[in-house]
Amino acid sequence: METIIKKVNKSDIDKEVIEQAGQILKDGGLVAFPTETVYGLGANALNEEAAGKTYAAKGRPSDNPLIVHIAEFEALDKIVQNVPEKARLIAENFWPGPLTMIFNKSDVVPYGTTGGLDTVAVRMPDDPIARALIAAGGGYISAPSANTSGRPSPTAAEHVAADLSGKIDMIVDGGSVEIGVESTILDMTVEPPMILRPGAVTKEMLDKIIGEVTVDESLISDKSTEPPKAPGMKYRHYAPRAELIIVEGDSGETVKAIKQIAYEQVRLGYKVGIIASNETIGEYTVGIIKNIGSRENEKTVARNLYKILREFDDEEVDYIYSEAFPSEGIGTAIMNRLGKAAGHHVLAAGAITKLQKYRSIVFVSSSDNCRAPMAAALLRRQPLLQEYTVCSRGMIVLFPEPLNPKAEEIMKIHDIVLAGHETTAFSEDVLNEDTLVLAMEETQKLKIKSEYPQFEHVYTLCEYVGGEQEIPSVYGQALERYEEMYDMMKAYIIKLAEKLNEEAKH
Ligand code: AMP
Ligand code: MG
Repeated sequence: METIIKKVNKSDIDKEVIEQAGQILKDGGLVAFPTETVYGLGANALNEEAAGKTYAAKGRPSDNPLIVHIAEFEALDKIVQNVPEKARLIAENFWPGPLTMIFNKSDVVPYGTTGGLDTVAVRMPDDPIARALIAAGGGYISAPSANTSGRPSPTAAEHVAADLSGKIDMIVDGGSVEIGVESTILDMTVEPPMILRPGAVTKEMLDKIIGEVTVDESLISDKSTEPPKAPGMKYRHYAPRAELIIVEGDSGETVKAIKQIAYEQVRLGYKVGIIASNETIGEYTVGIIKNIGSRENEKTVARNLYKILREFDDEEVDYIYSEAFPSEGIGTAIMNRLGKAAGHHVLAAGAITKLQKYRSIVFVSSSDNCRAPMAAALLRRQPLLQEYTVCSRGMIVLFPEPLNPKAEEIMKIHDIVLAGHETTAFSEDVLNEDTLVLAMEETQKLKIKSEYPQFEHVYTLCEYVGGEQEIPSVYGQALERYEEMYDMMKAYIIKLAEKLNEEAKH
């Protein structure tokens, strides 16, 4: 089957395309179209055969019922037995919008659409293309997410095409969706009404309108023994090709933990993806790093979630590490989807970060123009089991200067270019909990200790690696003295790397 793809502009809808798509639906065909949540795979909801085609195209288990989409509130009466007063109130407040309600179905709704249930799920979407198409297609359009079952829901027409090209009649391309996670599902057949799937309409928003609303226990605890009340929620839904792991903790700790595991996995030769946010993306150094959106505006996170998971599938990464997001507002829906995609594999950041003692190593010499930068450059070239930021500082630096020319020459002989180096004065900015300070001389160490008595991790390099003699200053001496000093330094740095690696194993 050749799939027709037509672009439609939301603010200037091409009526001919909508007519054509509407006719396909009336004739029992399948048309994918944008809604504000995700792209839906539309079919005539009152036609059992059309429902069958939907399940076949998606490869969806047939006990997973479809949501019927309507374009006006009055359409509800024909497909449900009765509309409780609370449902009216909710519709007044949230329809059209990203909310689905479940009612007892009337006889006109075939069991093929409801997966054999006596209830029917109904939503009135807000997207203008969706509404025009529902009306043109006869008013009752079942529309599950327009993806192959088991892949992330589509949030752009390209995602639909990637999954369903050749299997459906038409794709109406209305660009990227607004919300990006599926609708909230609220069961109106129980009292009080119960949320079966979290979405952009939150429990707090519903509580305000109708008083108490409960939440399906299986959504809150993964230890729940009850199966989820929405049949579709029992499926893992979307399992990325990679192993997805969520890392939870306060923001700084989470970033450290993800960096730590990502470094380790990349070192072992794995391809690693990282789901970062606007606020943290600059801190990651290894792996394929993607920005999911802003923590300040979690709507952006919801919008990008499925797209990013698809991209990682395409890039064939082995592991994906994702920051966790607060389970509030739309964050509840984000964490629900992310949690399902991860098979609820969640790690506590603190348990990981405590396995790395130092994250930053600062070498200190008198003027930061020879020994300290040399040590830093040498350490950066060592195979280290954990990641460190390595820098150098000087005890007396009045203004920035380049490297000492002889030091530069020696480094060059050993294929290390330090041309861009600028000397920097030692200051307390570098002293964090996870900083290791290694001075060239005892006097430098003692000065730092006396100025920052609360800071523990300061040693001389010689002392730390168990050497016999401090690295001497060779300032003003012949090039051979620099070469000797380089050899000594290199031996110490190799020992340092060994010691750090030894510590990393514990
Ligand atoms: P999707 O169409 O991909 O958004 O999935 C529809 C979701 O709605 C699935 O999780 C279904 O299990 C759920 N659903 C649809 N109809 C019902 C119903 N009558 N009772 C409970 N859950 C339903
Ligand atoms: Mg779906």
